[in-house]
Amino acid sequence: MPTLLLTHPVCLLHDTGQGHPERPDRLRAIDDAVSADVFGGLKRELAPLADLAAIERLHPAGYVEAIRAATPKHDFIWLDPDTVMSPNSWEAALRATGAAVYAVDQVMSGAVKNAFCAVRPPGHHAEPSRPMGFCLFNSVAIAALHARAAHGAERVAVVDFDVHHGNGTQAAFWADKDLFYGSTHQMPLFPGTGDLSETGAGNIFNAPLSAGDSRRHFREAFLTRILPALHNFGPDVLLISAGFDAHRDDPLAQIELTESDFTWVTEKLLEMAEKHAGGRVVSTLEGGYNLGALGRSTAAHVEVLMQAAS
Ligand SMILES: [Zn+2]
Repeated sequence: MPTLLLTHPVCLLHDTGQGHPERPDRLRAIDDAVSADVFGGLKRELAPLADLAAIERLHPAGYVEAIRAATPKHDFIWLDPDTVMSPNSWEAALRATGAAVYAVDQVMSGAVKNAFCAVRPPGHHAEPSRPMGFCLFNSVAIAALHARAAHGAERVAVVDFDVHHGNGTQAAFWADKDLFYGSTHQMPLFPGTGDLSETGAGNIFNAPLSAGDSRRHFREAFLTRILPALHNFGPDVLLISAGFDAHRDDPLAQIELTESDFTWVTEKLLEMAEKHAGGRVVSTLEGGYNLGALGRSTAAHVEVLMQAAS
């Protein structure tokens, strides 16, 4: 069974304006990186549009309509100082979420072993009723709810190694013991949430890191906190919020990881998925703002997904 790679050209047309770190070139860097021969075995498809019904399992219909209505006919509209929409942003957001939902369909049906969604805008900061931090719809949380509603998954886990805390995913999962959220992230840093003491219904596992932390701290956080909790939880499917902004070259944070750390964490997560979830993994892009580091780190991550699938 292959690894599925989903993307869509309209994700390049989500224009965030000059100087914005969450920019179309991010996807071009990833596309270049996964064009190498070693990625010839990927099953490549275009991301479909998400059904509004899938999005509305998480976001109230009024919120979804407000985002649609906010979409500008030309130029830009800022929903907050970080989060901007341009004329193609609505469709890009529907495809970013649609990729994660469709990837869940493909993984749960056994058509593919695992999947990576190379899409933007990202999602993990979007709360049920609030766009935030470059994010409009929380694709990974929507995909988790879809796995339950459409495929009968009983326990769904999201592990988030983006350098920022996924406040939106945490908010979405907060009171639901059958949903797991585990995150490593730099603190203090945007968005300010993610303290160890934030545990929800005993289903939230935050592992904050400090500026300057490196491989040792990152691996320790996974080995002592997130992976044991994930093992106890025993997910039916594992979703990954794959942000690569904990890389040492990233301009938005100060964690000192390299590509090999993303290889390591992906291997550890896939071992856990193999043990509990039949290897079912859907990974979706969140952050990563140094183009070279993003391309190389994504390639390292996808390569591990492919090895698990072969
Ligand atoms: Zn981030």
